[in-house]
Amino acid sequence: MPKKEKKKIKKIKETKKEKKEEKEEKEEPQTKGICLICQKEATGLPIKEDFVIRGIRKIKTAFKVARGSKLIICNEHLEEAKRRREKFEKTLLTYGGLGGVIGIILITLGAYFVVIKV
Ligand SMILES: [Zn+2]
Repeated sequence: MPKKEKKKIKKIKETKKEKKEEKEEKEEPQTKGICLICQKEATGLPIKEDFVIRGIRKIKTAFKVARGSKLIICNEHLEEAKRRREKFEKTLLTYGGLGGVIGIILITLGAYFVVIKV
């Protein structure tokens, strides 16, 4: 076999190996960041960005907690995060019907504060 051919085959094999490594990384997306629950730097699962997380992040950014850091759930709090999430979603469902009432209260309060300011 000519040398050139051998090199080519070796390169193909290396490419395949690289691809495999990339895939493995995707299967285990452990990453460094700040844990959403304990606020400590740790290695864990990056949290899925959805409307709940975006809301939390906004609040935390407002308090300069999450500035510039990736939010994760550390392995220690993975179960707790799931539990909290389920609880939170239940709460949303329970109070969903009250949303209108709360909205009216907020609008009333808002009007009240506007009156005070003026
Ligand atoms: Zn944690």
